[in-house]
Amino acid sequence: MKHQAKKRFGQNFLTDQAIITSLVDAINPQEGQMLIEIGPGLGALTKPLLNKVTELHVVEIDRDIVSWMNTEYSMPSYEKNKLTIHNVDALKFDFSSLGSHLRVTGNLPYNISTPILFHLLDNLPSITDMHFMLQKEVVERMVATPATPAYGRLSVMLQYYLQMEYLITVPPEAFNPAPKVESAFVRCVPHAELPFIAKDTDLFARVVLAAFSQRRKTIRNTLKPFLNDDDFVKLDIDAQRRAETFSVAEFVVMTNYLYSSLS
Ligand code: SAH
Repeated sequence: MKHQAKKRFGQNFLTDQAIITSLVDAINPQEGQMLIEIGPGLGALTKPLLNKVTELHVVEIDRDIVSWMNTEYSMPSYEKNKLTIHNVDALKFDFSSLGSHLRVTGNLPYNISTPILFHLLDNLPSITDMHFMLQKEVVERMVATPATPAYGRLSVMLQYYLQMEYLITVPPEAFNPAPKVESAFVRCVPHAELPFIAKDTDLFARVVLAAFSQRRKTIRNTLKPFLNDDDFVKLDIDAQRRAETFSVAEFVVMTNYLYSSLS
């Protein structure tokens, strides 16, 4: 179809067949699984996925694309009954309403990639795994380890819940229109059991946010509203360190100390 890509919906359509094949291979969809694709667009991933699974739900915000899909996928060759189209904003979609053991995927609109990741964290108990195409720089932040330049709030918040794997680097030329930056494909699998448990996850999020609010400042400074010098001594933590040197485990230890001292 003649579709003018819409910038406001972050539309960069995948066109490189070799890359599409390697993405589908990485997802490795199996008969009987329930897949959800966010932002199917013109079907670059949707079509190969449909060939492999029994049930595919797509969440697409663009009404023009949805009306195109309704004709395109009504052909018997696409086995229409496998496909359910949800014409809604993925940020407002209740993923858990689709059941459990969900496998979520998508070439995500870059302008809303972080909010979507956080939204999906709210639906985590129903999710088996997630595979996303994102800006490479974002994927680097997701998988970063402490004391590296990309390590920050996103790394800590996501790694608390997820195991992540950087899979494939994808150049701008693989898309039409080509985005300005490189992309990467990432796998996110919820931890079977959380390696470190924060007694209050909201408090954890607030501590992490405050700690990284000013990257160059010491934890003594950024966490002043939460912990004083005595607390750091009791915690046996050097308060002169910066947030970027703290592991997820250490953020959890600080949160739980704070939680106990508050209650
Ligand atoms: N998967 C396709 C399209 C990727 S472009 C491909 O790889 O070629 C991103 C897609 O996400 C577009 O179809 C766009 O309309 C859709 N989209 C953008 N914002 C969205 C939102 N908030 N909720 C659901 N879909 C969205």
